[in-house]
Amino acid sequence: MELLNIKNLDLAGKKVFIRCDFNVPMDEFGNISDDRRIRSALSTINYCLDHGCAVVLASHLGRPDGQVVAKYSLLPVARRIHHLLKREVALAQDVIGEDALSRAAALKSGEVLLLENLRYEEGETKNDAELSRKLASMADFYINDAFGVSHRAHSSVEGITHYFDNKHKAAGFLLQKEIEFLGKIIQNPVRPFAAIIGGSKVSGKLEALINLLPRVDKVLIGGGMAFTFLKKLGYDIGASLVEDDLLEEAGRVMQEATKLGVKFYLPVDVVAAEKFSEDAISKLVSVQEIPEGWMGLDIGPATVRLYREVLSDVQTVLWNGPMGVYEMDRFARGSNKIANFVADSYATTIVGGGDTADLVQRIGVDDEMTFISTGGGASLELLEGKILPGVASLMIEED
Ligand code: AMP
Repeated sequence: MELLNIKNLDLAGKKVFIRCDFNVPMDEFGNISDDRRIRSALSTINYCLDHGCAVVLASHLGRPDGQVVAKYSLLPVARRIHHLLKREVALAQDVIGEDALSRAAALKSGEVLLLENLRYEEGETKNDAELSRKLASMADFYINDAFGVSHRAHSSVEGITHYFDNKHKAAGFLLQKEIEFLGKIIQNPVRPFAAIIGGSKVSGKLEALINLLPRVDKVLIGGGMAFTFLKKLGYDIGASLVEDDLLEEAGRVMQEATKLGVKFYLPVDVVAAEKFSEDAISKLVSVQEIPEGWMGLDIGPATVRLYREVLSDVQTVLWNGPMGVYEMDRFARGSNKIANFVADSYATTIVGGGDTADLVQRIGVDDEMTFISTGGGASLELLEGKILPGVASLMIEED
């Protein structure tokens, strides 16, 4: 299966609808605090403009739940695109209303129109066919560049694709890159291939872990999820995060790893704290010695050394999920040290998931990674081996 490629479309001088992911974080005054998602859409937008297209942009922002809510207006996004593109960007007053449709119809080559927040329409998240049809009616071509929502069957992501044939729709550059890195590298990695899996719970990443096991050589577990595995192995984990209902499943994962010859690593020491708080009393302990009532909130230095050793010969690293409660400085050292090590390595390094992306940015090593996936939920579903609804309809059989 191959993704329909924007470069194969004959779109010069035509009208193009680009579904973007402009769901950017904003502060309480409505200022965009991180415009990475807007910047990452620029290559596709510029490609279309360079080909003389008229460009209709569409995105959701937050969760207005089908209502027009002023604080979720895309006005700040329109201003930022204008600033970045150095070109006029008109913001429609609605999504598929009179204003949007008439502006889209009048749009000329080189002009850019941004529709209002797609989720002002309650049909968007219901994959409403009428909404898809009206959105599709605005352009000759459809481009999906919104990886972050491609795991959702929404009107502007899935439904709309049925109104365009294979010569009139494609993945944008960002979507292409995401699928390329996460999909293809996982299918065909340069070995040894290690997956570092962390974060809060086993439940959130269980499917991904099961799907990855037959593909990787090593799995390194960190974060809260480690304690379910440790408990299954008989350790006394104190008050650490645990999912008792997943103990059996955790056991099966470890057995499967052994069967497949996959090296499965768990922390050997942790930073344990009396309570879940930045000012808690804490100490370094081996996983055999977590005091009663204390909780492990970060991996310890022995684990960091072990994981560095284990990672030293790998050629491909996939990292999803922090090693500890990285939001609190006290419990961020394990994640930071692993991040620096991964960043310095010569391996192909792929970081997925919102928290992990956030943590590598915080310590400024994001540029050192080969690829950082922009979509949290979508990247996890790809790791789970699922075909994303928004991507499925942009695939063609290879000859
Ligand atoms: P996830 O969304 O599953 O990737 O989990 C990310 C969250 O896991 C972050 O907010 C971390 O603070 C949290 N986390 C990581 N390690 C631990 C831990 N040992 N105990 C509790 N929460 C943790």
